Amino acid sequence: MAIADLPLADTLARPLRDLRISVTDRCQFRCTYCMPREVFGRDFAFLPREQLLTFEELTRLAQVFVGLGVRKLRLTGGEPLLRRDLEKLVSMLARIDGIQDIALTTNGALLAGKAQALTAAGLRRVTVSLDSLDDAVFTALNDAGFPVARVLDAIAAAAGAGLAPVKVNMVVRRGVNQESILPMAAHFRGSGHVLRFIEFMDVGTTNGWRLEEVVPAAEIISLIGGQWPLEAVVPAYPGEVASRYRYLDGAGEIGVIASVTQPFCRGCTRARLSADGKLYTCLFAGTGHDLRGPLRAGASDQALREQVAAIWTRRTDRYSEQRTRQTSRTQQQKPKVEMSHIGG
Ligand code: SAM
Ligand code: SF4
Ligand code: SF4
Repeated sequence: MAIADLPLADTLARPLRDLRISVTDRCQFRCTYCMPREVFGRDFAFLPREQLLTFEELTRLAQVFVGLGVRKLRLTGGEPLLRRDLEKLVSMLARIDGIQDIALTTNGALLAGKAQALTAAGLRRVTVSLDSLDDAVFTALNDAGFPVARVLDAIAAAAGAGLAPVKVNMVVRRGVNQESILPMAAHFRGSGHVLRFIEFMDVGTTNGWRLEEVVPAAEIISLIGGQWPLEAVVPAYPGEVASRYRYLDGAGEIGVIASVTQPFCRGCTRARLSADGKLYTCLFAGTGHDLRGPLRAGASDQALREQVAAIWTRRTDRYSEQRTRQTSRTQQQKPKVEMSHIGG
């Protein structure tokens, strides 16, 4: 039997269903929770161009993953729209047999000018990150002076290009932007877009994460529900990352991604490919598995499939389930890949 016919599962019986592809480790923002400027400053050594996978290499690897069960692709980064002609990659990926969904996560800075071309190329969905409607709070968070209005314009442009409903990601950090929760909920209620609140995570080792700064999803839901009553929505599919809630008055839905307080490792079917071709089986992994080396050395599709299958079947990752206040402190000292390297 060919590997592609085998139901591939890891040690916790989790199939491989989603692939997140980081197309660049660069970004024009310096969000304090992701790429703090003190670390990602002028002298930071980003990947040189020749180390990035080309669109052809990315497409070939995506095909290998599809042969092992992947059905959904998400392009991310760094900021994926900094990669020139990203729509070309989207159209190459859209032609792979077996792909059901191609999505993009972006900070929105370059989205307005690209939304039409991306949709025409086959992009199905977009997630735009926006952490506040207050310019003072937002610019302090993105540390790049980028105004709220341009992100809102990008969301409107994406919807106009056929990418509605847009998902809007807000990372919540206590003492930084929790005052923005209600204004954001008020703004996106009834807009047709879906606002999702993400608990501040201890990804990487540079963002100064402390458990005290996590606003638990339950607190966010009770805050919003106190203003506009909510009811939980049954998950659309097993392993759905966001817990969804619906406004009882019919003004739409919100989601919470409670990766810290209600981990969802049991249903984690996601693999991540870094821009330089390393496979990570967990957002909190310390090391990746090099696929670019064998790819550039002429490995066959079958050999690449076998390599990925061997990695996935040995997978034991469940970092968030094992995280405690104490381990979180010690984990901060351990090497962990940065979010901007492998994408969210
Ligand atoms: N640059 C794009 C963007 O910001 O949407 C894509 C890459 S970014 C790493 C993907 C997502 O991860 C964003 O929604 C971002 O807000 C989120 N993120 C980054 N650092 C995070 C952290 N420490 N905790 C929770 N979410 C984080
Ligand atoms: Fe850039 Fe996205 Fe990270 Fe912000 S969250 S620094 S926009 S990669
Ligand atoms: Fe998946 Fe790792 Fe996150 Fe758990 S901690 S949900 S295994 S990426």
